[in-house]
Amino acid sequence: MFRSIRARLTAWYVAIFATTFIATGSGIWLVMRSGIYDSVDEELEDRLRALERSVVRFSDSDQAAIVFLNSQAQSDPSLRIRVATNAQWIYRSPNTRSLSTAVPQIDAAVNRAARTVIVNGHPLRSIATTAKVGNALWLIEIGQPIGEYYEALQRAGWTIALASPLALLVAALGGYWMSRRALEPVDRIATMARHIGAANLTERLPLRGTLDELDRLSDTLNDMLARLEAAFLRVTQFTADASHELRTPVAIIRTTAEIARRRSRTEAEYVDALDRILEESERTTRLVEDLLLLARADADADGTALEPVDLNSILDAACERGRVLAEAAGLHFREEPRPPCVIPGDSEALHRLFLILFDNAAKYSTPGGCVSVRVTTDDTSVLVAVRDTGVGIPQEDLPHLFERFYRVGGDRARSTGGVGLGLSIARHVVETHHGSITVDSSHLGSTFSVKLPLSS
Ligand code: ADP
Repeated sequence: MFRSIRARLTAWYVAIFATTFIATGSGIWLVMRSGIYDSVDEELEDRLRALERSVVRFSDSDQAAIVFLNSQAQSDPSLRIRVATNAQWIYRSPNTRSLSTAVPQIDAAVNRAARTVIVNGHPLRSIATTAKVGNALWLIEIGQPIGEYYEALQRAGWTIALASPLALLVAALGGYWMSRRALEPVDRIATMARHIGAANLTERLPLRGTLDELDRLSDTLNDMLARLEAAFLRVTQFTADASHELRTPVAIIRTTAEIARRRSRTEAEYVDALDRILEESERTTRLVEDLLLLARADADADGTALEPVDLNSILDAACERGRVLAEAAGLHFREEPRPPCVIPGDSEALHRLFLILFDNAAKYSTPGGCVSVRVTTDDTSVLVAVRDTGVGIPQEDLPHLFERFYRVGGDRARSTGGVGLGLSIARHVVETHHGSITVDSSHLGSTFSVKLPLSS
C-alpha cells in the first residue's frame, strides 16, 4: 500500500498534522495552566504580604495576632491560613484540618515559591513566608483551592484530546483527497504513455496548459517521443534503403548467372559473365561493409581507439591512391606543401575518410579538371581542404549531403556507382575524432573541409 505516492503523501500529511496538533494542543494547555497559576499566585502573594505586614505589628506572645488571623480566615472561607513557630502550629484555620500536620522547618530562607498539593483529591495552591514577630520567627502559610480552575484546565485537555482523532481523520481524508487530485494527471499521463508504441509513435501526450510540473513532465516526454520517432524513422529508412541497395547487385548476379546458363557459351562469354558477377559481388561486399560500419557507429561499438598519429603519413598514402583515381578520371592532382602535424586519431579510419573525399572529387569532376589538397594548422586544430573543379552541388542539396543514402540527382550518381553512404561514413569518422566536416560548393567546384583537433 505504501508503494503508492498517494498513500505515502497522506501518511506524511497525517504525521505532520498530528505532530503540529499535539505540539499546539500541549502548548495551549501549558499556557492555560501557567496563566491560572500566575493569577492565583499573584492573588495569594498579595494576601500573604498583607498578612505579613499586619502580623509583624504584634508581639510573639500576643493572642491578638491569633484573633486577627482567625478574623482573616473567616472573612474569606476559601482561604487556608496556618501559622507555625518553634516547630508547632500556633494557628490553623478550620478548613486546614485535612492537611498534613507536619510542621515544616522554619528558617528565614523559606521562599515564597508557590506549590500545588492535592488534598483528598482536591488541588490546593499554597505559598509560605517567614516573618519576625516579636522575638520569634513565624512561618505563615496561606493556600487556596484551585479545583475550579483545574476542572476548566481538564476540560480543555479533554477537548483537545478528543478533538485530535477527529482532526486527524479530517486531515487524513483531506490529505488523501488532495494527493489524489494532484496525482490524477500522473495516472492519466502513465495510461497514455503506456498506450504509445512503435505503431503510433506520432501520438503525443496532451498538455493541460497549466505550465505546472506535470505539464512540464508531459512536455519532456513529448520531446523524448519526438526524438524516438525521428530515430525510429531513421532506422526504418536505413533498413529500407539498405535492402533496396542490396537488391540491385544481387539481382544482377542472379540474372547474369541465369542468362549464362540458358545455353552453352563460349569460354570468353563465361569469363565475361563471371567477371560481371565478381564485380557485383565486390560491390555488394563493399556495401555490406559500409552498412556494418554505420550500424556499429549507431551502436557506438566500433571501438575507434585514438592514438597520436602523424597526419602527413596518412595523407601521403591516401594522396597516392587519390592521384591514381584522379588521373584515371583525366584530372590533375595537386598536393600543396603540408605543415607537420600530429593528431589523436585512428589511422585506418582517417585514411578511409580522405579516400572517400578523393574518390568523390574524382567521380564528380569532368576530365581536364583538378583536385587539390591543402593542409593548414592553427594553435588547436588542423584543417584539411579537398577542392575540386567538378560539377558542384546544388545549394538545396548541401544540408542533406551527409545523410545516409543521400544522392544528388539520383540518376547521375547511380551511373557513377555510388550509393550515398560515403559522406555519412566520412562524417562518422570526423565525429569520432571530435572534429567537423563542412562543404562549400558552386558551379565551379566543391571544397570539403575537415577540421580535426591537434594533439595537445
Ligand atoms: P556516393 O557514394 O553516391 O558518392 P556520397 O555520400 O559520397 O555517396 O556522396 C553523396 C552525394 O554527394 C553524391 O551522390 C554526389 O551527388 C554528391 N557529392 C559528393 N561529393 C561530391 C563532389 N566532390 N562534387 C560533387 N558532388 C559530390
